[in-house]
Amino acid sequence: MKIIFATHNNGKLKEMLEILRDLDIDLLSTEEVGLKEEPIEDGATFEENALKKARFTAAQTKEWAIADDSGICIDELGGLPGVVSARWAGEGASDEKIIRHTLTALASTPPDKRGAYFETAAVLTAPDGRYWIFTAKINGHIATAPRGLPRPKLPYDLIFIPDGHQKTFAEMSDDEKNSLSHRGLAFRQLKAFLTGEFELRSML
Ligand code: IMP
Repeated sequence: MKIIFATHNNGKLKEMLEILRDLDIDLLSTEEVGLKEEPIEDGATFEENALKKARFTAAQTKEWAIADDSGICIDELGGLPGVVSARWAGEGASDEKIIRHTLTALASTPPDKRGAYFETAAVLTAPDGRYWIFTAKINGHIATAPRGLPRPKLPYDLIFIPDGHQKTFAEMSDDEKNSLSHRGLAFRQLKAFLTGEFELRSML
């Protein structure tokens, strides 16, 4: 089985390959199949955007597709940046600029008011138009300064500390982050679904 992962974010692709590595599927990125265009992410929710990306990729390639849309929602900012996490510091802003922008917005927010959560919507689409949505959240808070080793295009790892932990995501190994993270949780649900599909097919 071949599935196209609708992303141009190598940080996400690496996490996905790690999570789905023991499934017997060819997981190819949009780049690997030569798909350069992307739909505009103008949905109001993570689900809407993920569905849009997966459908677009399935329609262009006529293959199964997976997409995720994710971001961080900060209590003190009324849930911002949410669906605009990649863009709220300006279109094409660097990871450093995104972190600076976020910490500046919270400069006068005390430690007990820095609650936040990461959310992911992961969508699987079939070539015939069927789709399945898997969502997950992880609660935590925003540190006062960046800590750890940055992962490309995943800037908030440096400042997000999940509940029950002292380390930021960027201070954790890939395995440790994936075992807790919004994307890890959502994609493990998707993986369980795919595993079930395989078992069903082998019985037919
Ligand atoms: P999109 O889902 O590609 O629209 O963008 C999501 C954006 O949210 C990324 O570009 C990051 O800025 C941020 N983001 C999503 N997941 C993570 C994560 O696991 N760590 C850090 N930042 C993330």
